[in-house]
Amino acid sequence: MILSGNLALPQPIQGFLDERQRKIDALPNYEEKIEEAKNLWKKKDKTKFEEVRCALCGMSTVPRQCHYCEHSEADEVEHIYPKSWYPERTFLWENYLLSCGICNGSKKRDRFSIFDEFYNEIPLTRKRGQSATPPPSGSAVFINFRKENPLDFLTLDLKRTFCFTPRINQDDRSRRRAEFTIKTLDLNRSFLTVTRRNCFNSYCSLLKQYVTDKRSGTLGAGDQERKRDNIWKQCHAMVWQEIINKREEKGMEEINGLFRDAPELLTRPPFYFPVS
Ligand SMILES: [Zn+2]
Repeated sequence: MILSGNLALPQPIQGFLDERQRKIDALPNYEEKIEEAKNLWKKKDKTKFEEVRCALCGMSTVPRQCHYCEHSEADEVEHIYPKSWYPERTFLWENYLLSCGICNGSKKRDRFSIFDEFYNEIPLTRKRGQSATPPPSGSAVFINFRKENPLDFLTLDLKRTFCFTPRINQDDRSRRRAEFTIKTLDLNRSFLTVTRRNCFNSYCSLLKQYVTDKRSGTLGAGDQERKRDNIWKQCHAMVWQEIINKREEKGMEEINGLFRDAPELLTRPPFYFPVS
């Protein structure tokens, strides 16, 4: 999902997270930090974390939708950098996404890899009972959906499979980041590809209807804005974004013609959901 920037947390909640994080950071060694991160996370204040969830909702176009698969209801606060390796990011607002149980609990879990200085991918693994040592330094292979636009790395096949693949014409490192992210999240689960296809058809219908109404001249300014917002607030927003990105490709002539009469649909409206 493409998130609409980074909203700031309300100050009392930010202060609460900072206070939790300081407790972890104050411990003298890494293993103790990991243990404390686990304990504090288990005992986290449910009411305060409901506010964190609401704030995360404010960054997406569909409330409570999983930021990874754009499909299921999301009720889990997911750590982009796993807390089992990065205890210093356990209560870091910028490390959170809203995720469904499948994407978080079954797919991504603690899977994480980093690039070493030679751009080898180093998977972070730890055997049961093995003492915890910090991860080697290096940049993350997994795409950070809070800071990066996934569609800078991934492309969606709108003609046949409705699967995500790495974009062509990108450097080797970006391609490997795309491959790792697709595989880690299992983004091409069959039910997701079927739903993306259905959403593609719905988006095309909404686009046609919008342009038909606009051409008829019967829409007031408010109606036009409302219908435009409605298109941008549908599920699987990356499908819509890719329709826009690919409108000039072969086979998309009809869609491109519609956009020529409605260029205002090419830009995402600046809307947010209320934080609470
Ligand atoms: Zn999901």
